[in-house]
Amino acid sequence: MKINDILAKKRTLSFEVFPPKKNDENCDKLLRTIDELKELNPDFISVTYGALGSNSKNTSRIAGYIKNEAGIEPLAHITAGPSSYEDIDRLLEEYKSLNIENVLALRGDKPVDADIEYCKYFKHATDLQEYMKGKGFNIAAACYPEGHQECDSLYEDLKYMKMKEDLGATFFITQVFYDNSYYYRLVNEARRIGIKSPIIPGIMPYARNSNLKKVQKMCGSTIPLDFRNMVERYKDNPVLLEEIGFNYAAYQIIDLIAKGAPGVHLYTMNNARVAKEVCKRIENVIKELFKA
Ligand code: FAD
Repeated sequence: MKINDILAKKRTLSFEVFPPKKNDENCDKLLRTIDELKELNPDFISVTYGALGSNSKNTSRIAGYIKNEAGIEPLAHITAGPSSYEDIDRLLEEYKSLNIENVLALRGDKPVDADIEYCKYFKHATDLQEYMKGKGFNIAAACYPEGHQECDSLYEDLKYMKMKEDLGATFFITQVFYDNSYYYRLVNEARRIGIKSPIIPGIMPYARNSNLKKVQKMCGSTIPLDFRNMVERYKDNPVLLEEIGFNYAAYQIIDLIAKGAPGVHLYTMNNARVAKEVCKRIENVIKELFKA
């Protein structure tokens, strides 16, 4: 089923998982995680794709399991990165053979230590989208509540977000953020320039091994002072720290749902316990997502 058809009927609860980095690594642990995530009745589960494409087989394998064994709709990521036209064709054929309908089209980021030609065939996600047009997939795209790190301004970034929609993206998932006001600003500005598609907020609960500085550096997400202070104050108490992280994510979700977000996408970091802990805290609020 196309995820935008689900979004047309109800708000969605979804999760992101990432497959093992190498194609020959065992995926069993992740498959069990997916079985556990299923207990939370997600509308879809997204599966990341390595920036170098080196674990592409695992993305297909995991997305195929989600669709054909777990009976959940997968959203398989594709990064343009080092891919050639033939690579993309091959991957799309594989997705098709697994009945995968929904794809998140991305550019990817060249790893700093990688000595390869990057984005030779597809400079941006929009080029990948252009290439995928008419190939029978429902396409989603990424967006950035605080603007993409390479962009001069949020408004320039929004221009490309609009281009993504014009090229057929039927919904967006945001970069992780810890201050909901950036999400509301993004949605307001997107609507102002005519972007109509659902914009699903991406939330990453702070868990035991989280590293806020790393998240901030990688994603450019602002960490609100109150939250930063709490984490700093209890940095030597992992149990308490997790409690803070789960409750903070729960607070963000309550606020987002109350203000009408079209769904919630949890970056699970392959940890079903984290997703369960957050959902448990807002059991009745989450039920709002399941209403048609
Ligand atoms: P683009 O849309 O190409 O944007 C990159 C920059 O170029 C932005 O500054 C944008 O404003 C600008 N731009 C966009 N289009 C154009 C254009 N046509 N002309 C000129 N400039 C343009 N990475 C992975 O490696 N694997 C994953 O599975 C993965 N999943 C992700 C999921 C989500 C929800 C998000 C938010 C990010 C994910 N990423 C993933 C990270 C992503 O690859 C990086 O954020 C990357 O830097 C940008 O990807 P993009 O698709 O937004 O790129």
